[in-house]
Amino acid sequence: MSTRVTLIPGDGIGPSITEATVRLLDAAGADIEWDHQLAGTAAVEAVNDPIPEATIDSIRRTKVALKGPLETPVGKGFRSINVALRKAFDLYANVRPAKSVLPGLRFDGVDIVLVRENTEGLYIGVENYIKIGNDEHAAAQSVAVVTRFGAERIHRYAFEYAIAHGRKRVTLVHKANILKYSQGLFLEMGRLIAKEYEGRMEVEERIVDACAMELVMRPERYDVIVATNLFGDILSDLTSGLVGGLGLTPGANIGDDAAIFEAVHGTAPDIAGKGIANPTAVMLAACQMLDHVGQGTRAQQIKNAVEAVLRDKKTITGDLGGSATTEQYTDAVIARL
Ligand code: NAD
Repeated sequence: MSTRVTLIPGDGIGPSITEATVRLLDAAGADIEWDHQLAGTAAVEAVNDPIPEATIDSIRRTKVALKGPLETPVGKGFRSINVALRKAFDLYANVRPAKSVLPGLRFDGVDIVLVRENTEGLYIGVENYIKIGNDEHAAAQSVAVVTRFGAERIHRYAFEYAIAHGRKRVTLVHKANILKYSQGLFLEMGRLIAKEYEGRMEVEERIVDACAMELVMRPERYDVIVATNLFGDILSDLTSGLVGGLGLTPGANIGDDAAIFEAVHGTAPDIAGKGIANPTAVMLAACQMLDHVGQGTRAQQIKNAVEAVLRDKKTITGDLGGSATTEQYTDAVIARL
């Protein structure tokens, strides 16, 4: 029986790169039945709601979604649709792999999986201004919340992921020297969970600033990294840059009851509608999705084809220094299957 997956084309370059990805999965023989749904600006235009109930219902049914990037309408609805979807389905683990494939970059041999806590930290949306004298905006504060529960489950997820994927080392990233409470609790839970994996997984700790420096000097030494929401967000863009940019890196948002797969990048309004966007990140997100639904062999075939075309460098998109259109690149990947 084929797997039902909610497909959200998204905004900007979203429809063209998700269409390219669906074409690739069809050509590879992936056994998927797509349930097409709307979110973002496309949904506001169609039904005046950035996250229609029908979309939420669909993900509740299928438990798996592939999503293009979404533009968050300013001044109405949710603060961010992506954050709202993560909250709605408690997608606590954001898994962002960055692997060197494209030749001729500053580094090769990078193969890092960044596991970012996706529901807590500074992203909980508790922020306010503080009035002093007549100045309404004299100060501002943003609250970071780390819970024992949240920190435990993300560390456990990172260790289980590392074991399941034959990884050698997990790096616990933190800033517990300064943020002794929130980051301190995160690190404390990391150390506690690490003990359970003693003898099975190498563990190290890094303060986030030192980690950033080392990532741009010796990225090859990193394997699996686990970090809180904000640090994970920043470091995963950094690791994207190490392997060729945002057009190449996928991200999985995983919860116990649902999972949403997407590119790390946004809607790229500057190139939307031109047919030149790089669909690789969504294609690789679709591979994460196929792994997740038990179609790992298909995922590997697609990844091999994508990597072959990238290594070849003859048919690559503008962001990677080539001149191929989205369609030409997709044709080249399909031809390599
Ligand atoms: P962006 O990632 O859309 O673009 C940054 C730069 O990278 C642009 O120059 C763009 O052309 C380029 N780029 C990104 N993806 C590319 C691709 N696949 N191929 C070729 N070039 C690519 O970031 P932004 O401009 O800061 O954000 C634009 C919109 O996207 C905003 O509305 C933001 O809220 C939204 N956004 C959504 C998500 C998501 O849905 N997960 C993530 C980030 C940003």
